[in-house]
Amino acid sequence: MDRNSHLEVINRIQLAIGSANDFIPLHEPEFTQLDKKFVNDCIETGWVSSVGSYVEQFENLVARQCNSSYAVAVANGTVGLELAMKVAGVQADDEVLIPALTFVATANAAHHLGAIPHFIDSSETTLGVDPHALRAYLRAIGTTRYGTLYNKNTKRPISCIVPMHVFGHPIDMEGLSQVASEFGLIVIEDAAEALGSKFTGRACGSFGTLGVVSFNGNKIITTGGGGIILTSNEELAQKAKHLSTTAKISKNWAFEHDQPAYNFRMPNLNAALGVAQMLQLKDRIKQKRILAHRYIASFEDFTSGKIFQEPDRSESNYWLNTLILQSGTSRECRDMLINTLNEAGYMVRPAWELMHQLKFHASSPRAPLPVSEQLAARIINLPSSAKLALKK
Ligand SMILES: *Cc1c(COP(=O)(O)O)cnc(C)c1O
Repeated sequence: MDRNSHLEVINRIQLAIGSANDFIPLHEPEFTQLDKKFVNDCIETGWVSSVGSYVEQFENLVARQCNSSYAVAVANGTVGLELAMKVAGVQADDEVLIPALTFVATANAAHHLGAIPHFIDSSETTLGVDPHALRAYLRAIGTTRYGTLYNKNTKRPISCIVPMHVFGHPIDMEGLSQVASEFGLIVIEDAAEALGSKFTGRACGSFGTLGVVSFNGNKIITTGGGGIILTSNEELAQKAKHLSTTAKISKNWAFEHDQPAYNFRMPNLNAALGVAQMLQLKDRIKQKRILAHRYIASFEDFTSGKIFQEPDRSESNYWLNTLILQSGTSRECRDMLINTLNEAGYMVRPAWELMHQLKFHASSPRAPLPVSEQLAARIINLPSSAKLALKK
């Protein structure tokens, strides 16, 4: 791409979101009077920490939004993923299938349980796990004994798969669920970025045995820091709640605990903010979708790339808008464009460093990753705050 195509990209972004008089961040948290009201109320009650009514209110709102019977609020998405894997029965030395194209938290959560991340490839149409490639790969490297899938090369059990909905775009959960049941894999959805996204009309996070959403400051809505575990299995929900709250069994003044556990709970203060933010989710998603369609329209006849659009049968929350440069574009070429755009006042970013390319994953097992590798070199995330939709 030459200087002229760089200017063309700037013009097209400008057409979608206006000029960058001030620096336009990639994604900003957004707050209203409602947020202040709930947070203030929480402070005034004095119940800002581990007890208080907002946690349950927040859990109920998210469970309903996400078509799940239960929701357990936790301190952040990362510990949510760790705890979800633990209650689902993932053991130390199990292998956990994780897309190479994800944020490092997905793999970290497996590491903390002593499990081994095993990286798999993505699909060009969803950016997430490709069920067809996965089936072929597991047939090649897997062997099933007494209902448990083993990696023939490492001899370790492969117990679980953690698909991730990239930038809020739903992956093919139908295809994925079929492969998972074929090979006896537990499914835990990393729906950290996909609150409000739907596949075949059903919420992301509700397809797996458990699902996890993040409410970090950069996500579509935020509790400052926070996460939630979704499930429709009552026993798993109770287990997650119990382990996240120091496994305390007595309801009164006694300190009785029945096992070593965690303090992973979400403080009531964060949940108060979460309740207010949940009440704004519907409008937020509406704005996000308007913004996405502005980008799609302004890049419509662009020859050097396209704006990623929600896959078939799905409805995306469009958490982060993504320009995918044309196939064959080099990393260097992408990075030059990223530099130009940042200098022009538009904060843009590449996708994450692929998981298998991080040094500490050098010895982690992996499938062939051709799609992830060529996709990662071509992705640019564009400014995506919902309020940008109100600018024009
Ligand atoms: C944000 C995110 C997480 C982790 O959530 P935190 O609340 O920041 O711990 C996990 N996975 C993905 C894909 C994420 O984007």
